[in-house]
Amino acid sequence: MAEANVAGNEEELKPYLVVDVKEMSKRADALRAQGKRIGLVPTMGALHLGHLSLAIAAKNECDVVIVSDFVNPTQFAPGEDYDKYPRTLDADLTLLSQIGADYVFAPKPSDMYPDGFDAKVHIGGVSQLLEGEFRPTHFDGVATVVLKLFNISRANVAYFGQKDYQQVQVVQKMVDDLNVPTTIEMLPIIREPDGLAMSSRNQYLSSEERKEALVLNEALAEAETLIRGGERDANVIYAAMRAIIERAPSAKIDYMHIGDPKSLLPLERVAGNVVVLLAVRIGATRLIDNRIVER
Ligand code: AMP
Repeated sequence: MAEANVAGNEEELKPYLVVDVKEMSKRADALRAQGKRIGLVPTMGALHLGHLSLAIAAKNECDVVIVSDFVNPTQFAPGEDYDKYPRTLDADLTLLSQIGADYVFAPKPSDMYPDGFDAKVHIGGVSQLLEGEFRPTHFDGVATVVLKLFNISRANVAYFGQKDYQQVQVVQKMVDDLNVPTTIEMLPIIREPDGLAMSSRNQYLSSEERKEALVLNEALAEAETLIRGGERDANVIYAAMRAIIERAPSAKIDYMHIGDPKSLLPLERVAGNVVVLLAVRIGATRLIDNRIVER
């Protein structure tokens, strides 16, 4: 583990790798006692520039940056890609050393979920639509692990990507409803030069599928153009998006959705600010993307 630090010299070498839950909390307690502002970036690893943009924002705004690197089993349903999800801790540590992250928290599943673990954080409303319909247990897993990570890291601020727009709304609702003392910040989607939203799952795509995957961003761009041009009928916008997505032979649409930016409730007619979200399977790979259209 080339870039991992060893106990005692974290001042010189970053990031410092912590795998033990209790140790992470002890260190976070000590930092808070020194008056440090802690920024947490929750990730599942296999880091790319999207993740790094969050860590850089945390670095700019906080005294201490903790990046969690944990493929959370409880947010995957049986048959999803938990086993094959890329795990690249060494490369992640190298990238994070380049931006000066202070701690990487990479716990074992058995330390996060010891025998007898029996809690579940369930957020209603906004977690039930869209991803919630296609992945019914997903957001319980996300909310539970995120609350655990907030508690373990004593985070003052936590950074999330707009890439997972619904996830941010679910986490914000959890914070609001449960009075969680962590501020949520959402940062823009980082894209490849050709427009594909960066995702750890893009590496599942064959080179042909990688080209087809561009239809997600193209469909969202078309939706924005139509809305800015005055189109208000969501069904007209969906039809235009569908026509673009269907140009990709292996694309299957899970959903296209124009919704209220906070509740995500569907809008038949566009009014005010909206978010356009979609989930599309390209072959065996399920991709999500979205675009906020502010007016
Ligand atoms: P993940 O490792 O996929 O769970 O993502 C960890 C965090 O990185 C989440 O808050 C994601 O929304 C964010 N993220 C993932 N991809 C991107 C991207 N392309 N641009 C910005 N943030 C991203």
